[in-house]
Amino acid sequence: MFQKILIANRGEIALRVIRACREMGIASVAVHSTADSDAMHVRMADEAICIGPPPSAQSYLHVPAIISACEISGADAIHPGYGFLSENAAFVQVVEDHGITFIGPSSEHIRMMGDKITAKETMKALGVPCVPGSDGGVPDLETASRVAEGIGFPVIVKATAGGGGRGMKLARSAEDLETAFRTARSEAKAAFGNDEVYLEKYLGAPRHIEIQVFGDGEGNAVHLGERDCSLQRRHQKVLEEAPSPAIDPEIRARIGQTCAEAVARIGYRGAGTIEFLYENGEFYFIEMNTRLQVEHPVTEAIFGVDLVREQIRVAAKQPLSFAQDDLLLNGHAIEVRINAERLPNFTPCPGTVATYHAPGGLGVRMDSALYSGYRIPPYYDSLIAKLIVHGRDRPEALARLNRALGELIIDGVDSSVPLFRALLDEPDILRGDYTIHWLERFLSQALES
Ligand code: ADP
Repeated sequence: MFQKILIANRGEIALRVIRACREMGIASVAVHSTADSDAMHVRMADEAICIGPPPSAQSYLHVPAIISACEISGADAIHPGYGFLSENAAFVQVVEDHGITFIGPSSEHIRMMGDKITAKETMKALGVPCVPGSDGGVPDLETASRVAEGIGFPVIVKATAGGGGRGMKLARSAEDLETAFRTARSEAKAAFGNDEVYLEKYLGAPRHIEIQVFGDGEGNAVHLGERDCSLQRRHQKVLEEAPSPAIDPEIRARIGQTCAEAVARIGYRGAGTIEFLYENGEFYFIEMNTRLQVEHPVTEAIFGVDLVREQIRVAAKQPLSFAQDDLLLNGHAIEVRINAERLPNFTPCPGTVATYHAPGGLGVRMDSALYSGYRIPPYYDSLIAKLIVHGRDRPEALARLNRALGELIIDGVDSSVPLFRALLDEPDILRGDYTIHWLERFLSQALES
């Protein structure tokens, strides 16, 4: 087992990994920018090393600084968290070349799934159902028109290097296609330095259902059911729950097995998430994330497992600590992503948190790096806390969420908490009756009234 793990991340996810290390008796090393000298992950880790100035490109994304921090501290492994360098195959290669273990999949699998066209081709060949669309990249407008006529409008133009909802444009009809094609390409070029795009049938009212998989890198893999992440704003998840109100045990077992077999066949190592759109009883693969997800705690809650511990074990070449038959689903869990943002426009609003009080009690988990007096720096993601509740069933989880939100105090900065309180008054949410478009519609109606 590793002696010391360096966490190449910040905020709540850095704390999450430090906690797993401590329970496993492994020393932890935090890295931080000068803007994060007072951050909780710096205080909580066994050691901390400053790796650069505030901008991520010069600190959390700066590979030579992170490798140096590893060498200075003597860390034998790196946990990347999510975001930042977690899906950067070139980084993984550098880490391995320095004789350090990357806690995650191989650079080959990261590269394979990071390119969405290759990912889709691979999954299709492994028997995973995909969204109808172009065979590979679409080089020009003429090809795009031909493909779109073939699959039928509406279509969505997507960046093969895409992520975070960028480089994705909808064309409802042939007239929209030129603009969608050109803007998707230029957005993709600007955001990812790669303007290759592909086309997919645009699904009108799907849910976003993702399957958590875990492989040991030796050809064995399990699935841990689904998470429903349909509540999104600008293609970004806002609230996640598990199990999905739309999936029954038989469907879960079927799609779960398909996914576990697919990753087992490629010898996948570590945690992965296979994302689908789900409409009229059919699953359509959209992408695979080769890392821990922000919303992993809902899966941990219903299966009673520690996914970070499992990532560390598998990276240290230990076998999976659970077999498929050990994974029994218990109750219902919901996570809300609390951002430092001002409603109704979701404007980021960093600032000083005057008072912070976390909710507690049965079935409540708060993953956050906040403390009273903390200054939220303006340079990074606006996620400041994840509140996760677990109950025996969905109504109990909803009641618990309502109760926990009532206990939470974050004074001094605006947050997205009022949105969650409003959602808990909505009959559709209480019934679990929503698609990926529900939240956008709700927000635009709220703005009008
Ligand atoms: P990203 O990597 O940028 O997050 P994804 O491919 O995961 O992009 O898609 C993000 C979200 O965009 C999905 O959860 C869904 O809401 C929407 N989306 C993606 N593809 C389609 C599609 N073919 N039809 C309808 N909505 C889509």
